[in-house]
Amino acid sequence: MGQEKSKIDRLQRTLALESKVSHVDGVSANRASVLRKLNIETVRDLVTHYPRRYLDLTNVTTIAQARIGEQCTIAGQIHAIELKRRRRNLQIVEISLVDETGLLIVSVFHQPWLMDKMHAGDHIAIAGKVEFNYGYKRMTNPFMEQLAGEKAEGRIIPIHPATEKISPAWMRRLVANALEGIFGVLDPLPSALRQKHGLMSRNQALQAIHLPKSMDEAAQAKRRLVYEELLMLELFMMQQEHERTRGLEPVRHIVDGAHLQALRAALPFALTSEQEQAAADILKVLSAQKVANHLLLGDVGTGKTVIAAIAMAAAKDTGGQALLLAPTEVLARQHAKTLGPLFEAAGMSFALLTGSTSAPEREASIKGVASGAIDVLIGTHALLEDDVLPANMTLAIIDEQQRFGVSQRAKLLAKGAAPDALYLTATPIPRSLALTLFGNLTLSYLKERPGIAAKRKTHVVRKTERGKAYDAAREALKRGHQAYVVCPLIGAQPSSTKKSQRDGIADDGYYPDVAIDDISDFASEDLSSAKQEAEFLQKRVFSEYAVGLLHGKMTAQEKQEVMDAFQQGSIDVLVSTTVIEVGVDVPNATVMIIEDADRFGLSQLHQLRGRVGRGDADSEVYLVSATNAEAALARLNAMVKSDDGFKIAAYDLSLRREGDILGNKQSGTSALKLVNVIRDASTIEMAHADAAEIIAADPDLASPDHAALARELRLLFTEEKSAIGG
Ligand code: ADP
Ligand code: MG
Repeated sequence: MGQEKSKIDRLQRTLALESKVSHVDGVSANRASVLRKLNIETVRDLVTHYPRRYLDLTNVTTIAQARIGEQCTIAGQIHAIELKRRRRNLQIVEISLVDETGLLIVSVFHQPWLMDKMHAGDHIAIAGKVEFNYGYKRMTNPFMEQLAGEKAEGRIIPIHPATEKISPAWMRRLVANALEGIFGVLDPLPSALRQKHGLMSRNQALQAIHLPKSMDEAAQAKRRLVYEELLMLELFMMQQEHERTRGLEPVRHIVDGAHLQALRAALPFALTSEQEQAAADILKVLSAQKVANHLLLGDVGTGKTVIAAIAMAAAKDTGGQALLLAPTEVLARQHAKTLGPLFEAAGMSFALLTGSTSAPEREASIKGVASGAIDVLIGTHALLEDDVLPANMTLAIIDEQQRFGVSQRAKLLAKGAAPDALYLTATPIPRSLALTLFGNLTLSYLKERPGIAAKRKTHVVRKTERGKAYDAAREALKRGHQAYVVCPLIGAQPSSTKKSQRDGIADDGYYPDVAIDDISDFASEDLSSAKQEAEFLQKRVFSEYAVGLLHGKMTAQEKQEVMDAFQQGSIDVLVSTTVIEVGVDVPNATVMIIEDADRFGLSQLHQLRGRVGRGDADSEVYLVSATNAEAALARLNAMVKSDDGFKIAAYDLSLRREGDILGNKQSGTSALKLVNVIRDASTIEMAHADAAEIIAADPDLASPDHAALARELRLLFTEEKSAIGG
């Protein structure tokens, strides 16, 4: 009886995860509405609102003992707090903190609202690096937390993302109340998996990640929850894939046919051994009786296009058709131009379809594709229109796949019965990230750029040293070369996120957890606008040369004209927004200056700089930093140290906060709250392998062992989350 009762009790507590957060003690209607803004609507949302960090008071030092230059945690009482205004845009809150051993001065930049939150007499804990200046120990922008009547000593205090309306201390209370209500929740993971990896139960893990007794316990809890997030996502994606291909007859492509051989014979160069390997990988998955999902990764210039052409010839040999989707008109045209002769030589018909294709031409292409007369259709988003209905598409290729969302991908694939898919990308995603984004897929990597011997050098300069970059550009122009100047946006306003971060509040209302470590450029800042930049450069810097402008607001035709002019050399300096990121190939351009480089992701910078160094001459890239902040400069310097896109991407990803990495383009990935794709790479492999094994044995998760998993998947990934007991 007792056991029976406890089972029912645990079941109820498990169901309670889905009940509305207003059922939790302490959640008033007011607080519920604030929580809603943080996307916390259910108890589950609240207990998966994980601490961003911990304040470890099992290990505090006194002010007297705090060693200069070291990271310390100190608990003390506010003796005085005042707001100092240094300049119009610079407000500093200065706190004198005392404990029984001494005085320490805390300076906090750009968070004037602290004056309302903290008062003399308050007990607080701070963590940060101890400095010594003007006779006092100090901390600048430390991590701070109010100890509101809580017993602090010897405890680990979780710091949850909070808002101005719900402080971290309140958030702790609400989370603790919610945890009490679900104590004993059942575990969706089969116990075999838990044992295999030595993982805590869900109940233990949820309690321990929020209220750990030791930092080690917190780490173990996190390990379990990271694994769970990944396993669920992998299962979800693999199940979807299974659904999509259920009952379909996957195509077994013929991979040694006449067209393929003719196309290879027509290549103007020999493939590198890497390219040969990639082609073999792809032909292998194309020839298998399984729907292929292959990702070909390689930096700009590594020669991915020709591999795609080989795959398309296999489609032709199999009596099928291939569609090649590119993100921009420029790129689609370029593909048609370079691939056209190869297809012709191989006896394959092809057509180009973009937004600016004339109506009669469009009609002809659509007819040709529908009748099967056209073997390859190359195009932009125009390919996704409903009336583009290939007779027998057996291969779908997406170039620069990271530019497309899930629904676009699905739309293209839906144009065939069970097409194989090949994705090309210059974004060097590590395998771990690829698995998180796609679930099941095969990958090939290209690392070297064929036929390029010239060297490329990258420099980081501060805004005030821009002259160096201009000098280098002028030198190159004198030699008859050309240059790019890249600016972030046209007529740009600082983005709202950036602006609010500057004000000290992150966009979502969270307290910023990154100390703002540079104050020099807040006042003067203004993003370069490409338009103004072009005028300025033409008048002041490159007056004897032709400066051209390229930006995303231009029509396709205007863009084409400018690019043609640059290609032909009638424009010497091309000022552009990031529209050049893909599609421009001008080997004579040997200098690139990237303005406000700190605003770009490193991978994006790497992709941009791939536009120079394509010819025989050495080239130079100047990254102009708008800020002097040490962290920003260090990040940019990674570009100087490495030319390996994969290393750069890994470094970039490791700097980013969990959840930011995957963006919101990909479905399902919002379920990843704790995962960091670099740090957790081995867990990703583990979860991937486990999920594949489960789906292979029980694709519908119909066995009793998997019932809890199946329920969990439905809860996590169905659009309409149903809140019980509203
Ligand atoms: P990406 O990977 O950026 O799409 P492309 O396919 O556009 O690269 O190739 C970049 C350039 O390298 C093209 O001009 C292409 O013709 C050339 N290329 C590709 N493979 C080879 C090779 N094996 N030897 C010499 N040049 C090559
Ligand atoms: Mg390409």
